[in-house]
Amino acid sequence: MGALGAHMSIAGGIHKALWRGKQLGCDTIQIFTKNANQWRAKPLVPGDIDAFQKAWQQTGINPIMAHDSYLINLASPEEGLYRQSLKALGEELQRAEALRLPYLIMHPGSHKGSGEQEGLHRIAQGINLLYHRGGGTEVMILLETTAGQGTNLGYRFEHLAKIIELVEEDERVGVCLDTCHVFAAGYDISTPEGYEATFEEFHRIIGLDRLKVIHINDSRAQLGTRIDRHEHIGRGHLGLETFRRLLQDTRFAALPFILETPKGKDSQGEDWDVVNLRVLRELL
Ligand code: MN
Ligand code: MN
Ligand code: ZN
Repeated sequence: MGALGAHMSIAGGIHKALWRGKQLGCDTIQIFTKNANQWRAKPLVPGDIDAFQKAWQQTGINPIMAHDSYLINLASPEEGLYRQSLKALGEELQRAEALRLPYLIMHPGSHKGSGEQEGLHRIAQGINLLYHRGGGTEVMILLETTAGQGTNLGYRFEHLAKIIELVEEDERVGVCLDTCHVFAAGYDISTPEGYEATFEEFHRIIGLDRLKVIHINDSRAQLGTRIDRHEHIGRGHLGLETFRRLLQDTRFAALPFILETPKGKDSQGEDWDVVNLRVLRELL
């Protein structure tokens, strides 16, 4: 079975995310390599990278993946925001490469009324531009499945397949499936039949070999509502049986599973990440 972990804060230094993860019992973690709500980032200096590599060796946490900033929108029809997004994503690729992270997970983008096909083309064009420039050559971009709030793209497997089809170096594009998002988008993985049908569809349209990471979140919103609200494992509309099915699915045995459930402590004062990891491990 694959590695289990959670998204970890980099407050106080990127290497600290590893120690936080270790303390909570993560085998794997996801991080932002910079503040996700700001465009600007302090450049990484050799000291940051050394501290990170050292903590990586000492904790043995693996793999570690990056998630891109929430501000980036490669589907933007607005030229200014598009260019700013390109620049920021290019910098994130470089940061991920400097830290030697294998994956940069990104939300495909929001077309803002310009239309889905136009948005998908802009995303692929942006990835092509960045890859041609040669930045972050060892890093694979993972397109995340989304709930489809507003004009967000990525709520249909066809969207991701289209982007992959249009990217020239398509061997450098994979997919991150978010369980909460696909359910909110209308793929009913909460029943045995719906679960099988969803992954059969994923395989037919995208190919299961593209799937590199699973974001393992329960959903506070109901099926097909296209509302993105993460819930603790077993306390939302997906329920424990869905996660049991997923964790016991041999097709995903080698994949990392990352929690993005709400942070903080439960009523017993226990860290929610610890609680959710325990619930998941008990399902195995
Ligand atoms: Mn995400
Ligand atoms: Mn996610
Ligand atoms: Zn989400």
